[in-house]
Amino acid sequence: MNYYNLKDKEEQVNFKTASIKGQGKEKGLFFPERIPLFDKNFIENLNQFSDEEIAFRCMKDFVGDEIPEEDLRRIISETISFEIPLKKINDTISVLELFHGPTLAFKDIGARFMSRCLSYFLKDENKKVTVLVATSGDTGGAVAHGFYKVNGIDVVILYPKNRVSAVQEKQLTALGENITALEVDGSFDDCQNLIKQAFSDIEITSSLFLTSANSINIARWLPQQIYYLLALKQWQKTETGNPVICVPSGNFGNICAGILAHFRGLPVEHFIAACNTNDVVPNYLKTKILKPKETIATLSNAMDVGNPSNFVRILELFQHQFENLSAHLSGYSVSDENTLNIIKRVYERDHYLLEPHGAVAYVALKDYLKENPSKKGFILETAHPVKFPESVEKAIGEKINIPESLADLMSREKKTVEINSDFEELKRFLLNKNSNL
Ligand SMILES: *Cc1c(COP(=O)(O)O)cnc(C)c1O
Repeated sequence: MNYYNLKDKEEQVNFKTASIKGQGKEKGLFFPERIPLFDKNFIENLNQFSDEEIAFRCMKDFVGDEIPEEDLRRIISETISFEIPLKKINDTISVLELFHGPTLAFKDIGARFMSRCLSYFLKDENKKVTVLVATSGDTGGAVAHGFYKVNGIDVVILYPKNRVSAVQEKQLTALGENITALEVDGSFDDCQNLIKQAFSDIEITSSLFLTSANSINIARWLPQQIYYLLALKQWQKTETGNPVICVPSGNFGNICAGILAHFRGLPVEHFIAACNTNDVVPNYLKTKILKPKETIATLSNAMDVGNPSNFVRILELFQHQFENLSAHLSGYSVSDENTLNIIKRVYERDHYLLEPHGAVAYVALKDYLKENPSKKGFILETAHPVKFPESVEKAIGEKINIPESLADLMSREKKTVEINSDFEELKRFLLNKNSNL
């Protein structure tokens, strides 16, 4: 399978190159040259296949023979080595729990797949590979865990001092081994700028094999299809009709993977993009005008995105046909107030604890089902409530329990290297790191 650059269709690369490069010229996103369809018998009888087999069939067309079958099967089974249950919480709404991975967020799945693919592709390089990432919170933890103890790869994470939550900070700084956290005296934007400078510094790039673990990387984007199939497998056991699927969305990578699976033949009634007050896409669906905005801070902060980078892939899937797109996809924007209210309501009435991102999706799906009363569906719950304790405790008026896995993490020691936002400090660190190897 080849992938073309959405900004320059002449640039075509294979799966390996697209995974290593992350993005094409002019920061264009890579997109598969064709949409491989699912076998009809397979997709209608998912419950006759193991989860590993489903995931393998989902990914193999995209990888082709660039990773041998045996290695791809191993990568996949390591990617989905935790449960992904679909739980019915009332008559019309179920929840797909995507937070049982090591950092308690759905990004674990894409990050684990990508890290193992990169490790496979780079295993014969005689240089160590350095993955350089900036994080404002969740991404860094998922990437760090994805690459944790993966052979031949060092991870250097830059995060803004005092600007990530306590849980997030421990997920970045308590691992050790091949993961180094740089605590930057500056903002997230400073961290991103430092990384950009590092990638364009000839001294650094000639002595280190640098790669990024950006969320638009196809090796992070494509494996997200897997859990839509695993959800349908569970749905088909107990429900009739096709589900409405509601996805809490920020950069729109997650929902775009679901829509891709649908194009390949996965039976889905309708997709809903649930956004917080960052409502660029819901506005587009109303007005046909896609207009990026300044980002607004909300309780569901992983979705505070004013210019969703993956939306161009959705436009490409629908070949920029607005009528077709809006027939398959609805958008809702949900306020912080409604987010907190629904956490309380669902907790009291259905005895289910949502966190802010899932709560945004719940409100959107409920509103859609009000207008479409014959339908049923599920939301994707993208994080564990314990990652957002302040909001959740505020909503329900009770303390929540910390799961055992997290209690262990919280008791571990934080280890960081402090740097200021001056590029020379990062440069010195990276060049010395190399000479120590
Ligand atoms: C990243 C993230 C999202 C948004 O996912 P996109 O693929 O960027 O739309 C939603 N919820 C949580 C908890 C996240 O970390």
